[in-house]
Amino acid sequence: MSNNMLDRIEEVLLMGPGPSYIHPNVYEALSKPTLGHLDPYFVQIMDGIKAQLQELFNTKNQLSLPISGTGSAGMEAVFVNLVEKGDPVLILINGVFGQRMKDVASRLGADVDALEFTWGQPVDLARVKEQLGKRSYKIVAMVHAETSTGVRNPAEGLGELLKDNDALYLLDTVTSLGGIEVSIDKWGVDAVYSGTQKCLSCPPGLSPASFSSRAVEKLSGRKTPVPNWYLDMSMITKYWGGSKRAYHHTAPINMNYALYQALKNILDEGPEKVFQRHQRVHERLVAGLEELGVKMVVDPAHRLPMLNAIYIPDGVEDAEGRKKLREKHKIEIGGGLGDFAGKVWRVGIMGYTAQEQYVDRFLEAIKDIMK
Ligand SMILES: *Cc1c(COP(=O)(O)O)cnc(C)c1O
Repeated sequence: MSNNMLDRIEEVLLMGPGPSYIHPNVYEALSKPTLGHLDPYFVQIMDGIKAQLQELFNTKNQLSLPISGTGSAGMEAVFVNLVEKGDPVLILINGVFGQRMKDVASRLGADVDALEFTWGQPVDLARVKEQLGKRSYKIVAMVHAETSTGVRNPAEGLGELLKDNDALYLLDTVTSLGGIEVSIDKWGVDAVYSGTQKCLSCPPGLSPASFSSRAVEKLSGRKTPVPNWYLDMSMITKYWGGSKRAYHHTAPINMNYALYQALKNILDEGPEKVFQRHQRVHERLVAGLEELGVKMVVDPAHRLPMLNAIYIPDGVEDAEGRKKLREKHKIEIGGGLGDFAGKVWRVGIMGYTAQEQYVDRFLEAIKDIMK
């Protein structure tokens, strides 16, 4: 008998920047029988997912669907479909994921201007307004919930700034979707993407996305074909939309079951209640940390509930402390990225992880490693 490596997987309390804890019914969904990618019943499930995404994104956008791949595939998809070589693009950067957007857009030959803001602080709309007065852009892009710093960026405010502007508004909602309000029609967002393994509490593997009618116009009016075959939305829509479905690539069938169940969990609980739960659990975490003398990085006005950046407690070594949390307490948290490496820890309370019992377990564990 050969031994099976999978038998030794142990359950770890996932309190990092994603993946988050998974609801048992999402694991059950994953293990349902695999159907064919053009099976009529699977097509019905696809339509169900599109409707769920419209509800959670608060949009009427027809082109709302999960892209095959993780959040970064969603990022790649919105840029590769909407950027043409030489297009002026403005990217607002206050963390790692804003930097990644700049990298992606630059590789596609966009003429990128980047406005940089201090890490740990939100995008300053006054500076954006000034920049918009200097040059006209085809695209303006921002990260809603900057997972590398724990900052909430002003998504609605940027929408107001862009109201009478011809630029398309791109928003990264990987960490925000399912944890705080995302209302893309109200905010005037033209393209969004998210990820399954953050507040949707689903394993990583799909990137829910949505494109406005203005974005679709840009796509259909392109002078050059989308330079990436796999993520070309003009081809993918022939599989995900219309009465006759045509094969493009095989949808990750069971991951779509899992996404369906994860979205159903949120919609059944009620998005508003889910957001309140994140906020309540976040406040409990902050209160507990303050009692221990651990300081938060971000000012209360701009803090995300689901991603808490904290200064590494005095007397605790970064890697050593996280190793002890993982080995002794079976808890995973995230280290700092970029400018924050070695200084900051990131504590995620995303989706199913956003429960009082888990925060209490984490607070006990951090108390122990601070001894
Ligand atoms: C996690 C994350 C991504 C990247 O998603 P992957 O699933 O790791 O590819 C992009 N943007 C933000 C804000 C994220 O938190």
